[in-house]
Amino acid sequence: MKIAIIGGGAAGFFGALSCAKHFPEHEIVLFEKNTKLLSKVKVSGGGRCNVTNDTLDIHQLVKNYPRGGKALKKTFQQFSVAHTIAWFQNHGVALHAEADGRMFPTTNDSQTIVDCLWQEAIRLGITIKTGVAVQAICKEDHQFRIDFTHHQSFYCDRVLVATGGNPSSQAYEWLRDIGHSIIMPVPSLFTFNVPQSPLDGLQGLVVKEAIVKIKNTDLQEKGIVLVTHWGFSGPAVLRLSAWGARVLKENDYQFTVHFNWLSDTKEDTLRSQLLQYKIDHPKKMVSNTPLFDLPKRLWERLCSINGIEETLRWADLPNKNLNKLIESLLRDQYLVAGKTTFKEEFVTAGGIDLQHINMNTMESKLVPGLFFAGEVLDIDGITGGYNFQAAWTTGWVAGKHMATMISS
Ligand SMILES: Cc1cc2nc3c(=O)[nH]c(=O)nc-3n(C[C@H](O)[C@H](O)[C@H](O)COP(=O)(O)OP(=O)(O)OC[C@H]3O[C@@H](n4cnc5c(N)ncnc54)[C@H](O)[C@@H]3O)c2cc1C
Repeated sequence: MKIAIIGGGAAGFFGALSCAKHFPEHEIVLFEKNTKLLSKVKVSGGGRCNVTNDTLDIHQLVKNYPRGGKALKKTFQQFSVAHTIAWFQNHGVALHAEADGRMFPTTNDSQTIVDCLWQEAIRLGITIKTGVAVQAICKEDHQFRIDFTHHQSFYCDRVLVATGGNPSSQAYEWLRDIGHSIIMPVPSLFTFNVPQSPLDGLQGLVVKEAIVKIKNTDLQEKGIVLVTHWGFSGPAVLRLSAWGARVLKENDYQFTVHFNWLSDTKEDTLRSQLLQYKIDHPKKMVSNTPLFDLPKRLWERLCSINGIEETLRWADLPNKNLNKLIESLLRDQYLVAGKTTFKEEFVTAGGIDLQHINMNTMESKLVPGLFFAGEVLDIDGITGGYNFQAAWTTGWVAGKHMATMISS
């Protein structure tokens, strides 16, 4: 039998390797439209490839997928983070975890992952054809016909579609044509642009634990916030962009973002702490005494925005300015207008609707023999290695079941 894999990225390669391992006697051909294979793996993680995240517990793991997490539970039971670590280990690639859980090859070089996948594909006898773009799949009796843009066709018995994400809806037209519904694709993982920000000039400043909220939504994240020269970035902002990918797109990326720069601190507590400070340090300059572990430059800027002169002492701080400072510390507001890609990393939210996919096998419920894996599906994770993990998992499970079905 002939098995076609469409897409030479993480999911396509893992699908092909799994299929070849589980069912070595069949012919597997991988088609990639570009001349280069595994190009995202190569550039990923700033050239280091954040392969996965050391979240070993599946219940915790699925919480990192704004879309598809619940459905992935079943799939992760067959192939999860521990399997990924073991697979790479067994193929000569040791992974190490950083303090935040992100896992990289110990070489800290994405080429290690590219070489490993490539060498294994060669070893298993997978045929790889580059520079061939698929434009249609048709089912003819019990076979599939795959049409390429250069007017040739390929007949096969099973197909895995692993063509990745794409923010343009037209890119999914050929998959709609075979009967699948597409959840509208929108970009995820981006940073917020704040034109003429009152924090202009403070780029590089890091707040270790802030609460960020998006006005008129339930979206809220706690964590590190980074002030950039165009607005705000950092893990808390990126997580918000992922959870809010759809609603923020609907608002054309024009919205108001709120910060509690003091994390969970409530107004009553803050007020009494500041009043106590006034009593204890009446002669100290307000602007010069950053409190609560806030970066000095942020404290100074918030003081200046609220009319607190550099030379003003705590004893002389009028109530009006104290109230304004409290407001800025706990409910600071900025108008976001637009988004920017974070270190070139992005994913697509949306894609093949999971209701028509059997998540135990990754087979289409509409077209038997057709399988899907990776970002082409309506699955996306927050940053931290979760997107590759979804690609390895769905690719592996698809490859394993394409084979099982053929043998039966
Ligand atoms: C710059 C960057 C850095 C990233 N870093 C990380 C990271 O460190 N960790 C992480 O977890 N995630 C990261 N991501 C996300 C991650 O790369 C993707 O989620 C993952 O690559 C998805 O794998 P995939 O195989 O589904 O799709 P892709 O990697 O996009 O592969 C799909 C392949 O299919 C090919 N293709 C598409 N259409 C056709 C067609 N019609 N015919 C033939 N071939 C076709 C494409 O050319 C492509 O090679 C990053 C993303 C970017 C953009």
